[in-house]
Amino acid sequence: MTTAKAYAGFSATTPLAPYSFERRDVGPLDVQIEILFCGVCHSDIHTVRSEWGPANYPCVPGHEIVGRVTAVGRDVKKFKTGDLAGVGCMVDSCRECSSCKAGFEQFCLAGATFTYNNPDKKRGGFTCGGYSTSIVVDEAFTLKISDKLDLAATAPLLCAGITTYSPLRHWKVGKGQKVGIVGLGGLGHMGLKIASAMGAEVYLFTTSPGKTKDALRLGAKDVIISKNEDEMKKHAGSFDFILDCVAAKHDLNAYLQMLKLDGTMVLVGASPEPLELDAFSLFFPRRILTGSLIGGIAETQEMLDFCAEHGIVSDIEMITIQKINEAYERVIKSDVKYRFVIDMKSLKS
Ligand code: NAP
Ligand code: ZN
Ligand code: ZN
Repeated sequence: MTTAKAYAGFSATTPLAPYSFERRDVGPLDVQIEILFCGVCHSDIHTVRSEWGPANYPCVPGHEIVGRVTAVGRDVKKFKTGDLAGVGCMVDSCRECSSCKAGFEQFCLAGATFTYNNPDKKRGGFTCGGYSTSIVVDEAFTLKISDKLDLAATAPLLCAGITTYSPLRHWKVGKGQKVGIVGLGGLGHMGLKIASAMGAEVYLFTTSPGKTKDALRLGAKDVIISKNEDEMKKHAGSFDFILDCVAAKHDLNAYLQMLKLDGTMVLVGASPEPLELDAFSLFFPRRILTGSLIGGIAETQEMLDFCAEHGIVSDIEMITIQKINEAYERVIKSDVKYRFVIDMKSLKS
């Protein structure tokens, strides 16, 4: 066993604080990774504050993990010591059910093992995430990371990247389509970059007029201030596809009104409170509302390769782990440009 230094939440209402715990020994198929950077996802905050239901404390969040391989098990084929490696939102699944076989491990019928705050079905206890100095993961759930991109800025691809890439791919977003991204945070800014790299004409819906200039730089053709009724009316019934990345309760119907006939809106934002749906928002004219959850492992690798090919990384603000509680407050105020990434050196010193 190896002792990992970490930061953990100890209750829904107290700040994250230093913690240490044991990582398992490296098994035959395991990869041990020294964590160099970890992104800060809004899901970390929802989880550690028990906004989606009671968390298991101490809770070590973090599922946008990149680092260097420090040891591999004897049967590991894809990685060797010294390689770069990444870990996203899952660390295991049954690998035998129809979802796993189809490459949708996130929808494993036995329940995927998520990277933190999730029962470890094989070993007992709960999983601990990337706000820590090291991790041991089966090579089947370990991702190859390009050395051509900035490593710290690559970390957010492991959740924000795949969560936006997967629905954009699945619903075949591309040239000739008018696409809306709702909310310019961690997910939203990756959505803008990826959808525009796929060739779509992309618009940002935002509650923050101050983000307009950044949105245009990130690939938006234009910005729609969602609180401005005139701006919203101008675009009503004109979108093929909308990706809703909002982290809090908001009016779905206002965005559904933007879709044209057979247009699709996909929810990836995970409001802790239920959202109200007016059936008539779907009736006229026959609109589709659906959701999406991260992406499978093969698709995550495909996304990483797509981003390497297109030179796409996240726009990040690097922080030390000691600043994590301040970073959380800024994320909640929608004041993140556009992903916090923890420099794990700060945890080692
Ligand atoms: P984030 O960085 O906090 O971004 C959320 C953005 O939503 C904010 O920057 C803000 O953008 C907008 N927003 C916030 N409150 C709003 C409100 N009341 N009304 C309208 N817009 C509001 O969060 P994130 O890390 O991107 O995550 C977004 C959500 O996706 C979270 O709920 C997270 O848990 C969830 N998530 C889901 C998956 C999945 O697989 N489905 C994966 C990862 C994360 P503007 O300032 O531009 O309005
Ligand atoms: Zn996430
Ligand atoms: Zn399965």
